Amino acid sequence: MPIPQALAPVVDLIFPPRCPLCGEGLLAQTGLCGTCWQELVIPGEPACGLCQRPFAEDMPAGLHCAPCLAQPPRHDGIAAGTIYNEPSRRLVLALKHGRRIALAPMMARLIAARLSFVGEGWLAVPVPLHRWRLWHRGFNQAPLIAREIGKTTGADLGVDVLVRRKPTRSLGGLGRKARARTLSGAIAINPLRAEQVRGARVVLVDDVLTSGATSDACVSALKRAGAERVVIACFARVLDEVLPG
Ligand SMILES: [Zn+2]
Ligand SMILES: [Zn+2]
Repeated sequence: MPIPQALAPVVDLIFPPRCPLCGEGLLAQTGLCGTCWQELVIPGEPACGLCQRPFAEDMPAGLHCAPCLAQPPRHDGIAAGTIYNEPSRRLVLALKHGRRIALAPMMARLIAARLSFVGEGWLAVPVPLHRWRLWHRGFNQAPLIAREIGKTTGADLGVDVLVRRKPTRSLGGLGRKARARTLSGAIAINPLRAEQVRGARVVLVDDVLTSGATSDACVSALKRAGAERVVIACFARVLDEVLPG
């Protein structure tokens, strides 16, 4: 459970706030020290007009990156808080396994900085984790980040809009087609929420965006259900596309 705001000073007294990356003492439980902060890579311009992948060199606005040209995306943009690197990986792991839930608002603020167009009338939907894996891992961070994004932007939280119908094996080591096959039919709209999705503008939230196979399956399910726009939001975006699962 998140720490209620009123209890935060008490918690700080018992567990003096430290930088989650280097252990440096901090004034509050919710951030990083200045040095580690600078190690986060914030995606900037110029970037692909479809997926916001940063270009290495200066390019005219509106160009599209090679992956988008090869296969036009079904989503309506990707808002990444950071580019995946060692510090952002460690933050994700601290939230995921170390249960540093106090990190979620900071991570969500970094993402929300790229979501200035999102506000009331939008729906923040976390990428679903199958119940078995939820139990196995004990903790699901995507809804936590989605809730914070909702608080920051004014979007409604649709925590159970997407559901996993079957457990999927790890996608690590699989090619693009094999990933798509593994995921096809695995992610669906919760029938109880179908009405909410029709015509909706959706922010699809995850902690890390890797190959995009999982988010593609989510985007397809949302669009099939009539979502008008689906923007993917993640804390750490992997750019080289080659990742251990
Ligand atoms: Zn630090
Ligand atoms: Zn692109």
